[in-house]
Amino acid sequence: MTSPDWTGLPVVVAGLGISGISAARVLRDLGAEVTVVDGGDGPAVRERAAELTGIQVRLGDGATLPEGTRLIVTSPGWPPSSPLFAAAAEAGVEIWGDVELAWHLRRPLPATGEPAPWLAVTGTNGKTTTVQMLASILTAAGRRTAAVGNVGVSVLDAVLAEEPYDVLAVELSSYQLHWAPSLRPHSSAVLNLAPDHLDWHGSMEAYAADKGRIYQGNQVACVYNLADPATEELVREADVEEGCRAIGFGLGAPGLSQFGVVDGLLVDRAFVPDRQKNAAEIGAVEDITPPAPHNIANALAAAALARAYGVDAKAVREGLRAFRPEPHRIAHVAEVGEVLWIDDSKATNPHAAAASLAAYRPVVWIAGGLAKGAEFEELVAGAAGRLRAAVLIGRDRELIRAALARHAPDVPVIEAAEGQTGAVAMAEVVRVAAGLAKPGDTVLLAPACASMDMFTNYGERGDFFAAAVRELTI
Ligand code: ADP
Repeated sequence: MTSPDWTGLPVVVAGLGISGISAARVLRDLGAEVTVVDGGDGPAVRERAAELTGIQVRLGDGATLPEGTRLIVTSPGWPPSSPLFAAAAEAGVEIWGDVELAWHLRRPLPATGEPAPWLAVTGTNGKTTTVQMLASILTAAGRRTAAVGNVGVSVLDAVLAEEPYDVLAVELSSYQLHWAPSLRPHSSAVLNLAPDHLDWHGSMEAYAADKGRIYQGNQVACVYNLADPATEELVREADVEEGCRAIGFGLGAPGLSQFGVVDGLLVDRAFVPDRQKNAAEIGAVEDITPPAPHNIANALAAAALARAYGVDAKAVREGLRAFRPEPHRIAHVAEVGEVLWIDDSKATNPHAAAASLAAYRPVVWIAGGLAKGAEFEELVAGAAGRLRAAVLIGRDRELIRAALARHAPDVPVIEAAEGQTGAVAMAEVVRVAAGLAKPGDTVLLAPACASMDMFTNYGERGDFFAAAVRELTI
């Protein structure tokens, strides 16, 4: 569908969550006839529904396609296998995600006559951090910009902003990419690719294919990770605009058309005149917080996108210096009796946990929760030599326990807080971890799992952890 005439168009919004409510309001204001459907029902959902004036809401049935529907705008939580989508396919009704909707609603900037370019980022881990680094760099370069995505501005708010942005740093999840067939970024990066959300996508192949859509139609640069050949493979498969370049980033010295590190300096060998002989210094490892290896990689990816867009080296350095990470991403909580306590509650999959485990040793590792279909063999095998002990929590702890038994049989494993949730559970976990840690150790909350079996979200899991650690100091 090209951008439709919205007046009176019957549109169904799937899901009455934050994303669905915001899409429904935007569509209503465009003049569409909006129905929100949600399989859930109950007082909280009804309260939310009552606030939506001028919008029909159908609760308790998320499967039936309302008569006459011309378009579905879906929330990210709804898997492609949802019965509503099967009904839509049968009726020839298109399905858009919030990103597809936003893409159609972009408006031309007065200065250029074109909508603001999108610099897009996806990957299993590091998306939020990288778009925030990128936004910080673009701001240092004097551009009006926003970090768009999970934290910061929502994609719909970004394209509809009263005072338009010059350029957007957009974080895209695999769910959003799945439902955004028209998206054509200026340039984009896939940071890494490891199994995650396989329960939603159905298979690793389907997950990778959705991530790869980000490169489709790129104009200037497809940025990929030299340490992760799967990301380069996605570039090779992509259908890009004439002249668009493949740009690699990695922690070693950069080759041609690459970003890398030489003697603690960040180096661009891609967007420089005469790149056969030349390279540009664009910053230093010490400009990056925290300077863990995976975060240096994130900074290089952000720098590559900024340079593809034409930002000068000085602004890259200033932007990276000004950047501070969001909470719960390798956050330093406290040092108590020579034991360092780190909150990486945002490590909600094995790939993220591996990155933070690699940054410390010896580690008392707090892990477990909802595995989302992930496996833990590789993670545990890689980290075995660094572990002082493991404290396991949550519903899918057994998967990690089994991997530890196979790959780290000598590491003490304690199962904690069985049947408990919230602050009470975390207080016990911290007590157990404190008993296992020796001076010089790090206690690392990097659960490799989602949190919702015991906590509201990863933020609450990290907050309870920090609060319990502070109790130790009193
Ligand atoms: P996302 O938005 O993709 O979830 P975040 O920037 O919020 O990414 O970081 C999520 C988690 O992944 C954190 O626990 C962080 O320590 C870890 N992480 C960040 N960048 C990387 C990376 N490049 N590779 C592996 N893990 C990473």
